[in-house]
Formats: sequence, structure tokens, C-alpha cells
Amino acid sequence: MKNFASSLPQFRVGDSYLDSLDLKVSILSRGICVHDEIFEKFEKSCRLSRHPRSCNTMFLGDRLPVYVARTGPESPFHMVVREEKPAILHNNEFVTEVEFAPKPSFYTHKTSGGHLYGEMAILQGWDMLSFSYLWPCALAIAGHPCRFCHCGNATLQAVEAKQWMDFRYKPEEVAEIVRYAVEMEPQVKLLQLTAGSTLDPDSEIDRYVEILKAIDKAVGIEKIPPVIFLTPPKDVRLLDKLFDAGAGKIACDMDIWNETLFNEYCPGKAKYTPRQQHLEALLSIADKHGSGRACSVFVAGLEPVESLLEGFTYLSERGIVPLPSPWMPYGVERGNLPTPPGLDYYRTMRHETAKLYLKHNLAVPGTIGSSVCLSRDIWLRKEILAQP
Ligand code: SF4
Repeated sequence: MKNFASSLPQFRVGDSYLDSLDLKVSILSRGICVHDEIFEKFEKSCRLSRHPRSCNTMFLGDRLPVYVARTGPESPFHMVVREEKPAILHNNEFVTEVEFAPKPSFYTHKTSGGHLYGEMAILQGWDMLSFSYLWPCALAIAGHPCRFCHCGNATLQAVEAKQWMDFRYKPEEVAEIVRYAVEMEPQVKLLQLTAGSTLDPDSEIDRYVEILKAIDKAVGIEKIPPVIFLTPPKDVRLLDKLFDAGAGKIACDMDIWNETLFNEYCPGKAKYTPRQQHLEALLSIADKHGSGRACSVFVAGLEPVESLLEGFTYLSERGIVPLPSPWMPYGVERGNLPTPPGLDYYRTMRHETAKLYLKHNLAVPGTIGSSVCLSRDIWLRKEILAQP
């Protein structure tokens, strides 16, 4: 196993020392049991909520954002109050204190359509606004969610239980939220628009264009050109509509590079929007709009690190930014998926990814990073992580 990167903060965890990125991956892979006393003490003053769908984020010593992936007491990681501060324990031994962001007024507001902002969007990291599921995933509704996807699996469960409600939101409501988050509080610097995949990517593009126009009218799209997570269209020329309307970057998530595993883990994508369709859209964006305008998320931990890095290398060489996000297994009961790999996998991945970001001068959007995805964390520390 490679040694940890010596210039990152170090934490004693059991018999080992982990750096901050190791600790982030370990908590995301294993989950953390948050004791009630944390909510009792910090919920009123910090961005922290007991709601099961909330995106609670803690910050490690070097302002590294980590999603508080709440699980039961079986996790070795627990969060408790220690000397009046939130702290992480591992098997009852102190690891580190953490911080939360201050409580924003954002979640108390409603759109003109009567939706609480928090129903439609979440604040992530320090200053990211993410619309993570603007409409339900048609692949999940058709019975073929990606096996690792929490939203897709929850959607299928709701459909099977006949509890599903279509929650398409008006573009103006999205724009109201963006305006508040950009101009009022917490003055976000990165906007992500994400939704479920659709069976008709062409009309999905038109939906996004309407949203971009509404944002432009409300706040000026150039203030916050969004990253759009998109189902790749068959006709790549349609992608121009999004850039013309002010999109900053477009992500068509391939999730898994290895084709056999892609077909296995992403049965809906394999059936309706195959791997090649993703690849062609990404290549077309990079070719026409330049390096760094196309991105793709990968679920790091579901395929051998060699094939993951083969994909990262292929894409990076063509100006497409690979965005590794660690595999989080809890809550996807029906997936029958592998347990997350050990830290050597993630250390190899981040080392090689940092080298690729440097070599191909690829930028990952954002400021201090996101609560789950590792891409901005790696990019910010690329000189350290790329060291042999
Ligand atoms: S297509 Fe996207 S939203 Fe649908 S199940 Fe897969 S990852 Fe989830």
C-alpha cells in the first residue's frame, strides 16, 4: 500500500494513521452513527438536520467537506459531543473534532409554487447549490435503476408501492431558489442541475433550456454558469442548445468504464442510452466546446482500479474531466453489490487522477469541494497527491 500523502492532515485511527482524504473515504464507505446529542446541541445553530433526506456536511481539519453518511451503531465511526464540540470516534477512540457550516435561512423559504427550497435543492460542501433530482428517473420507473443509485432505487421502491408522485417543478421555481442562494444566502459559487435520466433526451434538453432561461432572467446566467448532468442525446448537435443558453459544463455520467460491468451495474442505461452514446456526447462536447467543458462521474470502487484509470486516462487525453465519487453501499439493499475496496484502491486512484489533472491541465469546478465527490478534493491537492 502507498503511504499517505505527508502534507495532508493526519489522524490516528486504530493502529494506523490516515490522512484527511483517507478518512473521508472511510466514513463514506462505512457510514457514521450520529448520536442524538449532536442534533440537540448543534441543530439550531448549524447546517444540520435530522431529516433523512438532508445533506449534512462536516468539515475536517483542512476544510475538507464530508457527507455525514448516517448509519446505525454498527459503524465503527460515531459522532459525539466532546468538550462542547462535535467529534469523531473510531471504535470509541477519539479521532478528531469536526465543524459544521452555520445555519442558513435558505431552508426556511418556499417557492411561489409552495415548495420548500429544501424539497428541491440542497446546499452541499460550503457554497454549492445542487438540484439533485429535478424529475424522477425514467429508467428506474421502467424497472431498471442503476444498481448503486440511491435515488433510482428509492424511485423504484416508491413505484412498486404505488406511492409515486411526479414532482416536476416549474423553471421559475428553480430560478427563485438560485437567485436567493446566489444573491442572499449563502451566496453559492457553484450550481449543479441534476435530474433522473429520461427516455427522451432531446426533450430533456429543452426542459433544461427553459430552466436556464428562467435562471438567466432571475439572476443572470453568467453569474453562475451551471454544471448540467444530462442524459446524452442521440443527436449530439442538440447539446449546443444548452451551451447557447449559458450552461458552463455538461456531465454525461458513465459511472463505470468497464463495458461488461457497465452493462451489469447500469442495466437501464445499457438498454436505453448505451455506453457509446455517453462517450459520443462527451467527445463531441470536448471537440466542439473545448477541454474541460465535458465531465463524467464514475463510481470509484465498483470496478478494478486498473479499468477505472484506463477510462480516466482515455477521457483526460481528450479534454474530458473524470469525476470520481466513492462507492457508498448502505441504503441500496437490493443491489447485491460488492463491499467497498480498501484504502490502497483510493490512494492509487487519487494519485493517478491528480497526475492526469496536472498533465492535461483539467479543471474541476467548485471552491472547497463537495460532500461526496472526490474530484475537487483531488484537484485542490493535486501537487501533493501526484508526488511519487
Ligand atoms: S440513470 Fe441516473 S438517476 Fe437513474 S438510476 Fe441511474 S444514476 Fe440513478
